[in-house]
Amino acid sequence: MGGLAEGKVVLVTGAASGIGRAAALLFHREGARAVVVADIDADLVDETAEMVRAAGGVGLALEVDIANAGAVDAMVTRTVGEFGRLDCAFNNAGVAGKAARTADCTEENWDFVIGTMLTGTWLCMRRELRQMLAQGGGAIVNTASVSSLVASPALPAYTAAKHGIAGLTKTAALEYVLDNIRVNAICPGATLSRMMLENAGASPDALERIARSQPGQRISDPLEQAQAAVWLCSDRASFINGTLLTVDNGATAGGTMSHEERA
Ligand code: NAD
Repeated sequence: MGGLAEGKVVLVTGAASGIGRAAALLFHREGARAVVVADIDADLVDETAEMVRAAGGVGLALEVDIANAGAVDAMVTRTVGEFGRLDCAFNNAGVAGKAARTADCTEENWDFVIGTMLTGTWLCMRRELRQMLAQGGGAIVNTASVSSLVASPALPAYTAAKHGIAGLTKTAALEYVLDNIRVNAICPGATLSRMMLENAGASPDALERIARSQPGQRISDPLEQAQAAVWLCSDRASFINGTLLTVDNGATAGGTMSHEERA
């Protein structure tokens, strides 16, 4: 049996670091024919593409702001122009925004988080779906979150955006089930990435506290999230559609961390 991504043309957004970078490298290791990596951070996403090429793969870096419809259209157009099709899209780019309870959330923070993550993910899905319809099939995986399923106090815009991504995922799954397109999402729990380090102020104490708040007393490695995403994209998940796959080591099985624990 070949790799999970054997021969596939893959697109990963938010691929400059964290879960997206881990997924780009894993898609390559699982046999992808080409891995297109997109991110707003041009330098770091170039580095990801270079890592794919250094490992013997085909990696193409694109600087893309997923909140910009023209840039998103160009991202998929370029992918198809270079590699002929788009088999798997992992819509993973995201921003946490500033932590503040709902009454203290600014309009600027709200618009930034909703505009980037919810609108941006929809823009990506819209363009990818059009391509997948034209070519006769494909698989999309979105990065949702445990914040798609339960409350994340002090992150109201993030939580609303992630719940929105869950709804978009399930809606598109049903809309395109007869078109040979599957749409799923992973719901990561606490994962060690740039976003996590920025939220925790890069303080080992804060990271330690977050780890202790988890049922398994540890934070996930980005690769553990990437493994779920790559598998959901693969033909081995052929009857899985509209699923929100929780990858949180049980964190939402019995509740989530409290505001005090996050602060
Ligand atoms: P990360 O910060 O390492 O990766 C996020 C990437 O998205 C960055 O490379 C960033 O430059 C990119 N990005 C931000 N805005 C963008 C835009 N407008 N256009 C294109 N790219 C943009 O963090 P991560 O944890 O790997 O995050 C990946 C996804 O996982 C995000 O959607 C995040 O919400 C989700 N998530 C993370 C955690 C966690 O604990 N780290 C938990 C649940 C869900």
